[in-house]
Amino acid sequence: ASISTTSIIEQTEQYGAHNYKPLPIVITKAKGVWVEDPEGNRYIDMLSAYSAVNQGHCHPKIIRALQEQAEKVTLTSRAFHSEPLAPFYEKVAALTHKDMILPMNTGAEAVETAIKAVRRWSYEKKGIEQDRAEIIACENNFHGRTMTAVSLSSELENKQAFGPVLPGIKLIPYGDAEALREAITPQTAAFLVEPIQGEAGIVIPPEGFLKEASAICREQNVLFVADEIQSGLGRTGRTFACDWEDVVPDMYILGKALGGGVFPISCVAADHDILGVFTPGSHGSTFGGNPLACAVSIAALEVLEEEQLAERSLELGTYFKHKLSAIENPIIKEVRGRGLFIGLELTVPAREYCEKLKEKGLLCKETHETVIRFAPPLVIEQEDLDWAISRIEDVFTTN
Ligand code: PLP
Repeated sequence: ASISTTSIIEQTEQYGAHNYKPLPIVITKAKGVWVEDPEGNRYIDMLSAYSAVNQGHCHPKIIRALQEQAEKVTLTSRAFHSEPLAPFYEKVAALTHKDMILPMNTGAEAVETAIKAVRRWSYEKKGIEQDRAEIIACENNFHGRTMTAVSLSSELENKQAFGPVLPGIKLIPYGDAEALREAITPQTAAFLVEPIQGEAGIVIPPEGFLKEASAICREQNVLFVADEIQSGLGRTGRTFACDWEDVVPDMYILGKALGGGVFPISCVAADHDILGVFTPGSHGSTFGGNPLACAVSIAALEVLEEEQLAERSLELGTYFKHKLSAIENPIIKEVRGRGLFIGLELTVPAREYCEKLKEKGLLCKETHETVIRFAPPLVIEQEDLDWAISRIEDVFTTN
């Protein structure tokens, strides 16, 4: 059968569970910030697979690492040692300034790992009575799709008919340090927070919130856990979004761009007094920390440093935000973001505008109904960004 956008979409709809509603585009090839459909149409990618492709599609250095490792050994399980795991640990430890790393595969699994770690820490180190630990999270959070992440969610749609959910979870309004202070009890193990809420629509907390929250946590012996799965690794113009307030969390949760858009890998990073609570058999994953993922991740992190992608994100993101803010259209409610992590909030549903942008050769996705997220690969060139900006200006000034 000939490959066409229509045939692929039909086949996908026929056999696949309908848990996504993708834009009607099929990507068959990609390089850097550009992707191509089966008919040979080219588009600029302004989503980056939800920030998993910060290093750009099929980055040559990362692909080389994948190929070289694939010819040696791809999977050992953790029943045996493999060569790339230790240098991966070293690399992430140096980046996070933490002394222990625990690798998993997806973001949600790393969130699971974080919750297990802080619960066990709270019993063994803080002295909370067994099975009483509480986790405080924020309203409108997004930590993934597993049952733990669903249990953390404040959105009915995420949890409806999936219960019973996990107990021991409390939610506070995002950005409200006083609410955090009031929510803490002697049973509180940790505060879990996205330093910028991505899926909620690129929501930046009020200035000083992260710093104050982290101070409150330290005072109360509550662990401050940053979910930097989407906001980390250069996306916001700094290595971590927490860096914007000079906040050092007790634990980082990383994923997405950790695999350079090539291979799934996630991890948590924390000091020995926290991650040391795991003993052999208490946690793990068959594929977690596999040689292929580790080799890819080392290369992905090297690209981040060598190409100074955080700095690039800051510079181009500031320019991009400025250009977007200059567009005059009453349906644009707000432009917000840090680095190349930008939300354009409309007063009307955003889907129609994403479809219009797609017609002009620009791929992006609405989040939370009315927000368009612009998050291109951080390797984007000024020239390509200007091309994208002129399309966005077209769509929002001729309407
Ligand atoms: N946490 C945050 C902040 C995310 O943005 C995401 C994904 O969008 C996740 C967790 C879940 O990651 P994954 O989809 O790899 O399970």
